[in-house]
Amino acid sequence: MLAPFSTPTYRSTRDASAVVSFSDALLQGLAPDGGLYLPSPIPRLDETAWRDVRTFPDLAFTVLAPWLDEEVDSESQIALLADALSFPVPVVPLQGAGWEGVSVLELFHGPTLSFKDFGARTMARLMGYFLQERDERLTILVATSGDTGSAVADGFAGQPNIDVVLLYPKGQVSPVQERQLIVQRPGVRALAVEGTFDDCQRMVKAAFVDPELRALGLSSANSINIGRLLPQMLYYVWAVRQTGDGVTFCVPSGNLGNLTGGVLAWLAGLPVRQFVAAHNANDFFPRYLAGEAVGFAPSVQTLSNAMDVGAPSNFERLEALMDADTLRSLIRGVSVDDDATLHSIRRVHEETGYVADPHTAVGLEAVRRLKETGAVQAPVVVLSTAHPAKFPEIIEKALGFDPEVPGRLAALWNRETAVTTLPPTADALKAFLLAA
Ligand SMILES: *Cc1c(COP(=O)(O)O)cnc(C)c1O
Repeated sequence: MLAPFSTPTYRSTRDASAVVSFSDALLQGLAPDGGLYLPSPIPRLDETAWRDVRTFPDLAFTVLAPWLDEEVDSESQIALLADALSFPVPVVPLQGAGWEGVSVLELFHGPTLSFKDFGARTMARLMGYFLQERDERLTILVATSGDTGSAVADGFAGQPNIDVVLLYPKGQVSPVQERQLIVQRPGVRALAVEGTFDDCQRMVKAAFVDPELRALGLSSANSINIGRLLPQMLYYVWAVRQTGDGVTFCVPSGNLGNLTGGVLAWLAGLPVRQFVAAHNANDFFPRYLAGEAVGFAPSVQTLSNAMDVGAPSNFERLEALMDADTLRSLIRGVSVDDDATLHSIRRVHEETGYVADPHTAVGLEAVRRLKETGAVQAPVVVLSTAHPAKFPEIIEKALGFDPEVPGRLAALWNRETAVTTLPPTADALKAFLLAA
């Protein structure tokens, strides 16, 4: 079966004249002009093939082959995707009055219990594939507000030709999240930054454009890397295959990488009715979608800390993909504060028996509000981005009991840890990188 596919090339959101291959976009992370890579053209989903697949890795290969064919042979694609995406991706219908037609797409069954495992594990293997082919080395630099770092550390640990340095805001991730970041892994170093997530992100961006650091071969694994977005299209396709056409997806959002994955799938032809971007008190995007003339704001700390982003990096991609009117008709924004998040965890548990983590609870509350006013109709799929056991303090506060802890999480407390504290400056990071 040789379809007339043309693998997309990649252009920066800022200067569209420079065109690179997928492997270059993947290994560079940020474009040289500071922009983000976007595919062009976007390959169309085959009308029927994805509806007939049996397993998630089958679906991954069916959907991604047209994106990868020119650079990765089919056999390697199949092996790499099967290895990366070897965990269940269940669609769980909620049972209870008021929740008819609402399902939860559980994206937390990977090794670090968040949806970030999809992107990180797939990226790590693709990067390893290309680096070995080119006989090159890379240092992956990651700013994380919680889940990216652990997913990247786990996904990349022990991969040949790759070192990882991860930055997280000290004291602003949960104890479980921190544990996942600082357990020792081969080739991985963790930095606790005395600042906010936005400080971490700014430090990373500064390092990327610093000529003195060029020799280190720095690359990103944040949601700014296009390599994370391709696998983040897959579970939208998987859910539509099971729920039927015309689904509304609700996406608990921070940097908007998860949502951008869905939008790419929609642009590729996936029959989606609309998207809901569910944010916490960091509400730049909902306000933008509501037509307000807003700018980015400093991030504020919330219970759903992996979404504490004041300046969502993928906004630049969404703006480059579509004009404002199209964005506003395709996506609805909702902002849910911490009180409502706690209340949502409690209400959903009372009404359906389901235990949602604080990020998923933001999504469920957004859907509840929109259903109440008739602004969304079933079927609705809420992306569950993290396992509740990552946030035992919050679940205990909301429900009065601790969530069940999966074995792979419990095992972390027996492992050695290593972490270095750093002030929130680009110079401090530079000194650390040059000293290593
Ligand atoms: C990263 C993350 C999000 C936000 O995803 P974005 O792609 O940054 O919008 C939501 N929930 C959890 C649990 C996360 O780890």
